[in-house]
Amino acid sequence: MGSDFGVKDAAGKVMQTVAEVQEEVPGKAPTQVRTEKELTRVVIIGGGACGMAAATKIRRQSDFKITVLSSDSHTAYSHCGIPFVLGREIENFEKLIVKPPGFFRGKNIDAKLNEKVRSINLARKVVLTGRRTYPYDKLVIATGSLPFIPRKSEANILPYGSFTLRSLADGKLFGKALETAQTVCIVGGGIIGIECASALTKRGIKTILITRSKDLLSSQFDSDMAAIVRAHLETLGVEVITGEPLFLPENFWKEKTVYVKDRHFTADLMLLATGIKPEVCLASEAGLDIGKAGGIVVNEMLQVKAGEEFLSNVYAGGECAEVTDLLTGESRLSQLGTTARRMADVIGNNITGKYSTFGPLADPWVAVAGDLHFGGVGLTPEQVKRQGIKVINGFSRGRTRASYYPDRKDIYIKLFFKDGDLAEAQLAGAQLAGGEGIKERIDALSLAIRKKTTIKDLLNLETCYAPPVSMLVDPLIPAVKAAVRNMRETKTE
Ligand SMILES: Cc1cc2nc3c(=O)[nH]c(=O)nc-3n(C[C@H](O)[C@H](O)[C@H](O)COP(=O)(O)OP(=O)(O)OC[C@H]3O[C@@H](n4cnc5c(N)ncnc54)[C@H](O)[C@@H]3O)c2cc1C
Repeated sequence: MGSDFGVKDAAGKVMQTVAEVQEEVPGKAPTQVRTEKELTRVVIIGGGACGMAAATKIRRQSDFKITVLSSDSHTAYSHCGIPFVLGREIENFEKLIVKPPGFFRGKNIDAKLNEKVRSINLARKVVLTGRRTYPYDKLVIATGSLPFIPRKSEANILPYGSFTLRSLADGKLFGKALETAQTVCIVGGGIIGIECASALTKRGIKTILITRSKDLLSSQFDSDMAAIVRAHLETLGVEVITGEPLFLPENFWKEKTVYVKDRHFTADLMLLATGIKPEVCLASEAGLDIGKAGGIVVNEMLQVKAGEEFLSNVYAGGECAEVTDLLTGESRLSQLGTTARRMADVIGNNITGKYSTFGPLADPWVAVAGDLHFGGVGLTPEQVKRQGIKVINGFSRGRTRASYYPDRKDIYIKLFFKDGDLAEAQLAGAQLAGGEGIKERIDALSLAIRKKTTIKDLLNLETCYAPPVSMLVDPLIPAVKAAVRNMRETKTE
């Protein structure tokens, strides 16, 4: 492994002296205050899904001195639950706090909230906030992402009445504003925009969802699958406008109006759910490598790279770090809580001397809007084609329960295989939508992709059955058979 800027890590067991937190004096290196007890100092930047999980993992496996620095005002909460509080399915935002600050104090994890890190000095092995300097032996960068805002102005404050949704504090602020809102315009047709649109209509707020892409979920779903999600939102009462770009109207606070091509809409509030970008400023300014996908470059132990070398004492995980795609082998981002959590385990193991690696991802995801569950795994057909490989697809529409069983729901399944014969054509991706049974099937298909399952394997798939949970022939099977038919047709063309 590469340099760690002067401190050798003898099998992770070198005893370090503890330097207490120092007041920051510009231009002056902090003096080390030695204590009797010699503990490894771990500093974690970011108290979100990856940072806090890494802290607890390290605590379970060591007596290291752990400090978490977070610019957030809350810690250890579920971002994923925010749309469901907005929709009043969950009573309030406090319910999303999975572990209160006292939990971490009890575990001797020093979590400092509202403390933004300004810079990392790799040579001195210190992290600087506006207030203090924190020396470290091991550093974890888990700074997540920042909202991406389509905007012409350079201003860094959003106009009054417009919101983003990245943290619990954002959720609370937006939730408060919603109390008096009658019409809301959501910009962005991705998962968060869709989940929030469904939530707001559920509580009687007129909601307009605008995306510049031709379809909703443009980077995850084919047009036909996106149309199912759109139809569902429209049934709920959401006005969906696609293919119409919208830049942040800087005078929204005054006019309460958004303009698309030939139309305009008045709204009390605007939610910008226009995507996110990795928060890599600190890493980049410290001289760490940023990859083509825009995240911090890491090796399989999740150690960061500076020039030619990976640093044995600095790790990055969660949305700010790049991952490797299981099917293309290329670097990309994974913007999922599940990924952040798994990365935290790997970082925690490596920091405490238990060697662990983080492999390539198929990135299964699922979302819920009203009664519709939708999700996918692996590549979209466009992504497969970009590899120069032809795609065979198979689609089926089935039901989630036996024909006589009450409350059965529709389920739509689309599978993608790389071109080849029956025994060669491997599953490359899947898109599913329906009233239930989506998550379990996506998880199974995720394993199938990982295991390089072919059409032939899936034709022989044995599935289980009971009337309240499935049809006798699982709806997956007709999708596989449709792919076989499509394959034969392309071969005879
Ligand atoms: C509304 C919403 C719904 C979601 N739903 C799902 C879902 O259903 N399923 C799913 O898998 N994922 C979901 N996600 C994504 C998931 O929440 C993220 O992928 C996950 O939180 C990423 O973890 P992270 O640790 O990388 O970043 P975060 O959890 O965002 O944590 C980053 C932390 O770094 C801090 N930070 C940044 N810069 C600094 C600095 N300079 N100094 C100090 N601290 C700093 C931030 O304050 C923050 O606390 C959702 C996200 C949102 C916003």
